[in-house]
Amino acid sequence: MSEHTADKSRDRALGMDRPITRRDFMNGIAVAAIAVTGPGFAAPSSSDPASFTAVGAGAAQDTQGYYPPLLTGLRGSHPGSFEDAHALRDGRTSPPATDTGEDYDLIVVGGGISGLSAAHFYRAARPKSRILILDNHDDFGGHAKRNEFNLDGHLHLLNGGTLEIDSPRPYGPVAAGLLKTLGLDVPALAKSTQNTAFYENLGLGSGAFFDRETFGTDKLVVGIGGATPLDRLLLDAPLSARAQKEIVQIETARIDYLPGLSSAAKKQRLSRMSYEAFLRDVVQVEPAVLAFYNARTKGEWGTGTDAVSALDCWGIGLPGFQGMHLNKGSIARMGFTPAGYADTGGSYRLHFPDGNATIARLLVRDLIPHAMPGTHAADVVTARANYAQLDRADAPVRLRLNSIVVSARHVGDVAVAKEVQVTYLRGGKPQSARARGVVMACYNMMIPYLCPELPAPQKAALHQLVKTPLVYTSVALRNWQAFANLKVSRVYAPGSYHSYFHLNPHVDVGGYRSTKSPQDPILVHMVRTPCQPGLPEHDQNRAGRAELLNTSFQTFERNIRDQLGRTLQAGGFDPARDITAITVNRWPHGYAPEYNPLFDPEVPEAERPHVIGRARFGRITIANSDAGGGAYTDSAINQGHRAVSELLHTAKA
Ligand SMILES: Cc1cc2nc3c(=O)[nH]c(=O)nc-3n(C[C@H](O)[C@H](O)[C@H](O)COP(=O)(O)OP(=O)(O)OC[C@H]3O[C@@H](n4cnc5c(N)ncnc54)[C@H](O)[C@@H]3O)c2cc1C
Repeated sequence: MSEHTADKSRDRALGMDRPITRRDFMNGIAVAAIAVTGPGFAAPSSSDPASFTAVGAGAAQDTQGYYPPLLTGLRGSHPGSFEDAHALRDGRTSPPATDTGEDYDLIVVGGGISGLSAAHFYRAARPKSRILILDNHDDFGGHAKRNEFNLDGHLHLLNGGTLEIDSPRPYGPVAAGLLKTLGLDVPALAKSTQNTAFYENLGLGSGAFFDRETFGTDKLVVGIGGATPLDRLLLDAPLSARAQKEIVQIETARIDYLPGLSSAAKKQRLSRMSYEAFLRDVVQVEPAVLAFYNARTKGEWGTGTDAVSALDCWGIGLPGFQGMHLNKGSIARMGFTPAGYADTGGSYRLHFPDGNATIARLLVRDLIPHAMPGTHAADVVTARANYAQLDRADAPVRLRLNSIVVSARHVGDVAVAKEVQVTYLRGGKPQSARARGVVMACYNMMIPYLCPELPAPQKAALHQLVKTPLVYTSVALRNWQAFANLKVSRVYAPGSYHSYFHLNPHVDVGGYRSTKSPQDPILVHMVRTPCQPGLPEHDQNRAGRAELLNTSFQTFERNIRDQLGRTLQAGGFDPARDITAITVNRWPHGYAPEYNPLFDPEVPEAERPHVIGRARFGRITIANSDAGGGAYTDSAINQGHRAVSELLHTAKA
């Protein structure tokens, strides 16, 4: 059999030819999307990446049937949402814009939680104001996106990005106050809606998958953290006896690996070495053990253990430090971790079935009530957004999708200007509108391209705000019998394409009901963080982003099928039969950058790039979680509030 024939037959066994809900892709553009959005949705030129394209769905959000949460295939930064930004970065200028004649009190660039919050705070201060929100995606919410599936006639939801209300520090008065205003009683909802023990009560626990490419043999070890002692479980793992012993030691032994030093001195040392270096050079473990732990930091920071300090890993509770007598609390050379806020207990925690898309949807209801039916916070979970209501000429707040901003400039000299002109591309056509103030709630490192008048040091600081790429994949399954057979609900897979995956969390809220029986369909959440070990963090982020841009949906699909098939095979899982839909939420510009003591200079907060970068510039202020130096929703909300306060306090505003 030729290699080509073998590949084809392997693809058939995986189900690559099955008619699942994934859409088929031509030139990176979904064929089905053309049917949904109508003419004007054209493929970008693949030969000239710097050209402005006719991507974006024009006025599609007003057309009947427009409902992006149901779209599958490549989502997140979906085809058509970013090409014009790259063209701008590459030096292309757009043709002259058509003036829409629209004049607003405020234009918000970016319809994520920060931008939507900014609009909310502005309206709260000036109830008669008129606001336009522009976003480049075909859906609102930014990272807080909703993946919606109809499986066997039932609504199934997953978060396409922002997972849950959760932060190392407690939500402060601004963020907590906003959630309350939106009708969210977080502690009460956490108590009444989250069944975190659902799978455990069915006898399903955690597993670790050892893949043959990394560990020599494919092997799923089940029951980690359960009743069976770890040393017994690891007997089944393709690891040497020494490696097994070392893992047990890291997880359970109380050893002081830096004896004779004070807690403060130990913290200084740990802040200067990666977790990988700590395990390799201080604990002195085998390479297979390093490979086993490598992905433990990926969900939190998007890179492996080589790019995260040992101190920050202690900060999020990774093992190995239990005998080191480290006092709780932060030091200057420490990232944003729960240990730094140990006295406070961190924030409350709440997962909606669509993650923090619920917050974005409640903000839309608050700003544009006709667009989001319902009256109570809980009923928003099953509400079907009416996209045709988002951008109505007679409404005080308008939310315009598929509109990528390419310029925000003061009309006249910044010192005396009364207005800012904002230019955006929609369906490839440049259009402009004006406002008395602008909040840039978009990715901060893009702002220098949009506001070339900014002072050079501010632009330099903004350029440093490199975001972390990551992928959240939602896979619909015919049933979860294989998980039940194997007694596993979540799998850590350090060497696999996705570093971990788990069954959809069990949450019943409002009219939404989670799957109860293994015979019923379910969604699986998978996480991949593309990065390049060995490089400084931001270079890893850039390499990961390039990889994402060049990975086709077909490659994702093949890897998803292969990984689930190999991991769950012994439970009877058949990827060709059991996978019914796939949505790959691709976030090349994901987490906001946070301080990393391994690579960032130790400077006071006021000198960090996110603080220098967010300075007000005339009638333009800067929001987004980037501006808060923390990849969290409370940061996004706080920064929206600060940016609006700055505008409102500008005497000239
Ligand atoms: C996969 C993932 C999981 C996460 N999980 C959590 C979590 O569990 N809890 C938590 O607190 N935080 C989480 N975060 C962090 C999350 O980023 C923040 O909580 C929050 O959602 C960020 O909101 P934002 O408005 O600041 O930014 P964004 O959500 O990024 O919104 C900015 C918007 O501006 C748009 N934009 C950019 N450029 C332009 C332009 N030129 N013109 C028009 N629009 C533009 C962007 O496309 C985007 O829609 C997660 C992030 C990711 C990526």
